[in-house]
Amino acid sequence: MRYVSTRSTTGESRSFSDILLEGLAPDGGLYLPDAYPVVDDATLGRWRRVLAEDGYAALAFEVCSLFVDDIPAADLRGICERAYAPEKYLDPAVVPVSRLSDGIWLAHLSNGPTAAFKDMAMQLLGELFPYELARRGETLTILGATSGDTGSSAEHALKGRDGVRVVMLSPAGRMTPFQQAQMYGLDEDNIVNLAVEGVFDDCQDLVKAINADAEFKARHRIGAVNSINWARLMAQIVYYFATWLRIVDGEPLSFAVPSGNFGNIAAGHIARRMGLPIRHLVLATNENDVLDEFFRTGIYRVRSGAETLATSSPSMDISKASNFERFVADLLGRDGTAVAELFGTRLATDGWFDLSGVDRTASGFVSGSSRHADRVAEIRATWEQDRVLIDPHTADGVHVARRLVADGQVTGPVVVMETALPVKFAETITEAVGITPPRPERFIGIEDLPRHVQQIPARVEAVKAVIEGR
Ligand SMILES: *Cc1c(COP(=O)(O)O)cnc(C)c1O
Repeated sequence: MRYVSTRSTTGESRSFSDILLEGLAPDGGLYLPDAYPVVDDATLGRWRRVLAEDGYAALAFEVCSLFVDDIPAADLRGICERAYAPEKYLDPAVVPVSRLSDGIWLAHLSNGPTAAFKDMAMQLLGELFPYELARRGETLTILGATSGDTGSSAEHALKGRDGVRVVMLSPAGRMTPFQQAQMYGLDEDNIVNLAVEGVFDDCQDLVKAINADAEFKARHRIGAVNSINWARLMAQIVYYFATWLRIVDGEPLSFAVPSGNFGNIAAGHIARRMGLPIRHLVLATNENDVLDEFFRTGIYRVRSGAETLATSSPSMDISKASNFERFVADLLGRDGTAVAELFGTRLATDGWFDLSGVDRTASGFVSGSSRHADRVAEIRATWEQDRVLIDPHTADGVHVARRLVADGQVTGPVVVMETALPVKFAETITEAVGITPPRPERFIGIEDLPRHVQQIPARVEAVKAVIEGR
């Protein structure tokens, strides 16, 4: 399997382990497999047995094997077994499914160490990165900015690992107490938490400024684990197969996905291209509806920071969707020149582009959005009907799924991807149903742990000083 940039005009390709530690391709594009592997019915039948008999990790190995040909099979199997060891998840099924009384299914992606679906990908990176670095005899400093879920997920996946250090910037005092505790409570030599005096955009600007300093970046071996990393997408493809195998017996299934950076649902798109019988990919946004607008109108218009609203599903508050370029590359038949024109030129100069002339229906995508009141109503309805608590991000998916089913746009069985546990967003749950969500035992008392965090001004020099160990 070889990987090419979405903006490639030469077809130049690279191996999996070459792109693993990289972010963007040198031409500014994102890496994709040169062709998606296709899975036939016999393979799906075999995978059904693998999942039932040997569990989620074994299925992960089967799927990843199709994309990775430069890691020996025994090593890759060990990587998957450690990443998806049943004891790391609240349920040994890793991604269990359940059914609500109105027939909607939930796929529980948030049973990992930090109670958000990002663990599903980050746990695999947490194995792949140290493995590849050791093989190369290299070290890496992961520099990132987080407003909550990504930072804690990365830290929990990489804590205590050889050859890799995490320096994570977060806006001081702006995350929920639970999110702060998940990060700042870690007492590990290779985890460095920096609370920046500013907002999330300031954190992101600092990371960008340091990455723009090529000499500093190379000297200190700075890398990232952001959502455009191909291996994160690969890891996410696995749970689309697992969910389908658990819910239906050959028929098509539709997936509703609470979306922000288009990472989760991009994996669904790829699974569908691999031959998984997916009828609809239901893209759900909150008030920040850049993506819903695209699927309704064909116009993709990125928003400014000022136009990006702070909502009760904060992990979906995005102004542009960093993985969207991958989908557009497929939509345009991998025409690298056209992709570079749209994402390199049009977005930079106009801030929008128009693909209304391109047929988007064959991709199976439909979309919708929710408002705060919709999510609260959905959390309440689900609680009253089934005594099941869903978090505000999942509620967004449930809302859009129920609406599109009701008006006939989506038919057949539907599963909503549950992307976080309610305990992470307790305030909205309390607003909706008047109770505090139950806390899984592993999170009890985390706010009381000593904090390991350094407060710094929003200045590049301050971050550099920490990286240099000054
Ligand atoms: C990151 C995140 C999302 C959005 O996922 P994308 O891959 O960025 O589309 C949704 N819900 C939760 C809880 C998240 O952490």
